[in-house]
Amino acid sequence: MKHSIQILPEHLCNKIAAGEVVERPASVVKELLENSLDAGAREIRVEVDGGGKRLVRVVDDGMGMGQDDAFLCLERHATSKIRSDDDLFSLRTLGFRGEALPSIAAVSRLTLRSRSAESLEGWEIYAEGGTVKRAGEVGIPVGTTIEVRDLFFNTPARRKFLRRDETEIGHIADIVTRLALAHPEVQFSLVHNGRPLIEAYRQTRLSERVGALLGRPLLGDLIPLERDGGEGLRLHGLVGHPGVSRSTTGAVYTFINGRYIRDRVVQHALLEGYRNLLEKGRYPVVILFLEIDPALVDVNVHPTKHEVRFQDQKLVHDFIVVAVRDILRPSGWLPVREGGDKTSLAGSPPLPPLTVGSSPAPLERIQDSLQAYARTSAFSSAAEPRRLPGPFRISASPQAPEEKGFFSSLEILGQYRRSYVLCQDGDDLILIDQHAAHERIGFERLKSQYSQGRVEGQSLLFPAIIELDFRESAALAGHLDDLARLGFDLEPFGGNAWALKGVPRILSDGAAERLVRDVAGEVAALGKSGLVEEALDNILILMACHGMLRANQSLAHPEIEALLRDLDQVDFSAHCPHGRPVMKRMTLGEIERMFKRG
Ligand code: ADP
Ligand code: MG
Repeated sequence: MKHSIQILPEHLCNKIAAGEVVERPASVVKELLENSLDAGAREIRVEVDGGGKRLVRVVDDGMGMGQDDAFLCLERHATSKIRSDDDLFSLRTLGFRGEALPSIAAVSRLTLRSRSAESLEGWEIYAEGGTVKRAGEVGIPVGTTIEVRDLFFNTPARRKFLRRDETEIGHIADIVTRLALAHPEVQFSLVHNGRPLIEAYRQTRLSERVGALLGRPLLGDLIPLERDGGEGLRLHGLVGHPGVSRSTTGAVYTFINGRYIRDRVVQHALLEGYRNLLEKGRYPVVILFLEIDPALVDVNVHPTKHEVRFQDQKLVHDFIVVAVRDILRPSGWLPVREGGDKTSLAGSPPLPPLTVGSSPAPLERIQDSLQAYARTSAFSSAAEPRRLPGPFRISASPQAPEEKGFFSSLEILGQYRRSYVLCQDGDDLILIDQHAAHERIGFERLKSQYSQGRVEGQSLLFPAIIELDFRESAALAGHLDDLARLGFDLEPFGGNAWALKGVPRILSDGAAERLVRDVAGEVAALGKSGLVEEALDNILILMACHGMLRANQSLAHPEIEALLRDLDQVDFSAHCPHGRPVMKRMTLGEIERMFKRG
């Protein structure tokens, strides 16, 4: 290929634009917001209709553009790398920067209004599919307004990939949240279909901004971190109490030199800092800013995936680990696996993971959630003491137990360490993990109720008000029917708050709020419409967990009998091939060999 510079044909540029820069309405919002911030705006309004598919409007009070710049910013670039459609698709180079506006214009109906302080009048330009159709003077204040309508109107194949409004606005809110966290000194608002979703006034402190964006109640559980590593390396922000963990990384906000970055090294270091404080499968709430000499980090490794390359990975990693660890230790939070407070499951044995579907995480999460729940209650600063999840509500089976099932016919020997039930089956010794057994019973019951229509619910005497972050809230809004089928009765309560009016009957009341949050996180992580089978299992498992009988709880003889009866009622062999063992059998022969007999 000859390397002489050529101007790309217009239609080809459009393809580049559509493919590389603009993935969805949230990408438009990101580019426009970054431009507004670059222009020194102090107030930025984002107005969105129809999940951003119909309209994205960003209004700023930045420096604006003069007439020449207003036209120029829609202009295209020249390159030596491609000259035909074929070249384009065999190439993955960078170098599309400075192309945001022309790219967005190419796949939308774009109106730009801008005025700089030097001119008395502003300019308005209207372009369709990248072609300027109208332009003229307008009287407007200094600043810039960009309206992007009908995204992908001229590329229907791409339009088809856009999700439901709730999903798209969730992504948009995420972008606004990230940028607003990084710029407390700028006022941000987000309005969807005329309804205000985010309103963050100008603030001087990060914590105030976090309160406005992620919910005030969270603030009590965040501690400020500030650490200087020398030579330009600095870390500051807020780290969350391990008791307010989440089931996804959705509340981990990390910034490098002011840019939102989701870097693997940084994430790993963070979790390492939380090690032994946070259970497996749980993630902290963290808002952290890393400052580093720009010469020591390459932020252009992946322009859209938020990855960076550090010159000295280990240095950065260890700096973060130590900073996080140090701030968490002296606060007196008890590690999960060392010691433990009196409500923790200190005596419970390490449980092997029970996998459901293809994901090994959720079942570990069951145990973890419960432990975390125990800790949350212990640390909870709420005025009224919350109860631990009570015993699983196992109804004595109404059917007359005439023909005894396998479990009911076992001879009960007793209980070991208040965690295992010991029985005899002929000559064999049977050990039953009571914690696993209850989990399993709960899971199978929920599953059968769900498949028969809906999970049995019960109304709460006093609705609980739950404040979620934006993404969780949007996820709930998009899945209210599914949640109703799962036994949750939820109503919008303004902003991102929800009134929880009914919960699955299986739950003890105190567990509901955390469960709703976990379920919302689970659904939000799903990101698409519809509850796929795997997510359903995870959710049912979470529910079973929140309602289950703890290990380390002594059971009277009749309670053991009831447990065994219930085990006979659930048909878990048929449904759950991957289950963690509920029962272990030791034969007389095995035991005799153990004692070198026979
Ligand atoms: P880049 O941001 O990489 O320069 P863009 O296509 O996003 O490329 O923007 C092109 C140019 O248009 C910017 O460099 C800036 O000069 C101007 N511009 C865009 N948005 C604004 C805005 N909101 N206020 C002032 N100038 C803007
Ligand atoms: Mg830009």
